[in-house]
Amino acid sequence: MSRDLKYTRNIGIAAHIDAGKTTTTERILFYSGMSHKLGEVHDGAATTDWMAQEQERGITITSAAVTVNWNYRGQKYHMNIIDTPGHVDFTVEVNRSLRVLDGLVFLFSAVDGVEPQSETNWRLANNYNVARIGFVNKMDRSGADFLKVVKQVKEMLGSEAVPLQLPIGSEDNFKGVVDLINNRGIVWNEEDKGMTFTEVPIPDDMLDEVAEWREKLLESVAGYDESLMEKFFDDPNSITEREVLDALRKAVLDNSIVPMVCGSSFKNKGVQTMLDFVMELLPSPVDQEGIKGTDPRTEAEVLRKPDVKEPFSALAFKIATDPFVGRLCFIRVYSGNLEAGSYVYNTRADSKERISRIFQMHANKQNPIPNISAGDIGAVVGFKDIKTGDTLCDEKHPIVLESMNFPEPVIGLA
Ligand code: GDP
Repeated sequence: MSRDLKYTRNIGIAAHIDAGKTTTTERILFYSGMSHKLGEVHDGAATTDWMAQEQERGITITSAAVTVNWNYRGQKYHMNIIDTPGHVDFTVEVNRSLRVLDGLVFLFSAVDGVEPQSETNWRLANNYNVARIGFVNKMDRSGADFLKVVKQVKEMLGSEAVPLQLPIGSEDNFKGVVDLINNRGIVWNEEDKGMTFTEVPIPDDMLDEVAEWREKLLESVAGYDESLMEKFFDDPNSITEREVLDALRKAVLDNSIVPMVCGSSFKNKGVQTMLDFVMELLPSPVDQEGIKGTDPRTEAEVLRKPDVKEPFSALAFKIATDPFVGRLCFIRVYSGNLEAGSYVYNTRADSKERISRIFQMHANKQNPIPNISAGDIGAVVGFKDIKTGDTLCDEKHPIVLESMNFPEPVIGLA
């Protein structure tokens, strides 16, 4: 089975320790599980799921990659969340994960803003030109200030941070956001833990501020689309939501704009809306032309396109031990297809090994899959000799993917 790669997202969540990465990941697992049974959420099932999931927490949250599905505007997306260590000491591991993901959700605490590990990870992400969305978490806490964090991202990290929302209510009273793209207020519903929201009028005392920030948003994105620019000067009211989103996506993909959204993962607010923006704005594996490598026989440069019809190529990015299945090797597949039970060639070891099983980690179970193909991330079992950074490929079409010689760690930013 191969799915349309346009609807795959390989995403990392980067954050300074304590900004709420674990809580946000839990909420993502919870919401994505619920999205399969929307409609049941009012009958109390949600609470049971919630508790079950809290108990499962240890297993999945620490996994190198977790797979979820997300429904956005009638389309089912397949999302792999790749673990991105927050601690500065793990710079090499951050590099490794940045190498295999396509986009980042960058988490900030609304109280603490840009912190040392945010700076380090932001600069590492710049080295790989990774597209990203900023999520300002902990909006319920005293001292939370969304626009202050937006300003810090501009001034301290040097990126064009553009708010897509403004918060409604503050601190304890944080309820929802005004969506600046389509000019509507939304308040997340508490009875289903924020899975759904209710539209509300923009509060009167926010009207001026909303108009001002919406204009700034339109001006920023208009630069990425000529017809939008014309409309911006002639009749900004005629600009549609789709036009803004399409221009914004272009700007995000070439890393010119970092859209900023906010919420409180602890209070079940904003994570689900942020996920919608992940699907809308962050790149899919086919947004890149492919991956470059070297043919070890000729030293010639080879480009592998993100396509199942190309020869198989993948990178091993994490080796983990699992109490149930033994040694798991997490791989990012760039091209082609690999079937469980088949052989794969390891260029470094110059050896062929049989893959016995392939897994994807879901919220509460390891899901065996028959094959894994271009653009996807999963874990394979069966290797005797495997190291992080190894290239796995088709023996007839050998390749060494770009070396894992990472840029020097950025030191001294703290
Ligand atoms: P991590 O270190 O980034 O994984 O952070 P955690 O998810 O473990 O969160 C750190 C602490 O902040 C925990 O005590 C969480 O309960 C708390 N926390 C996380 N998100 C929020 C939030 O949105 N609001 C508030 N008030 N607390 C939060």
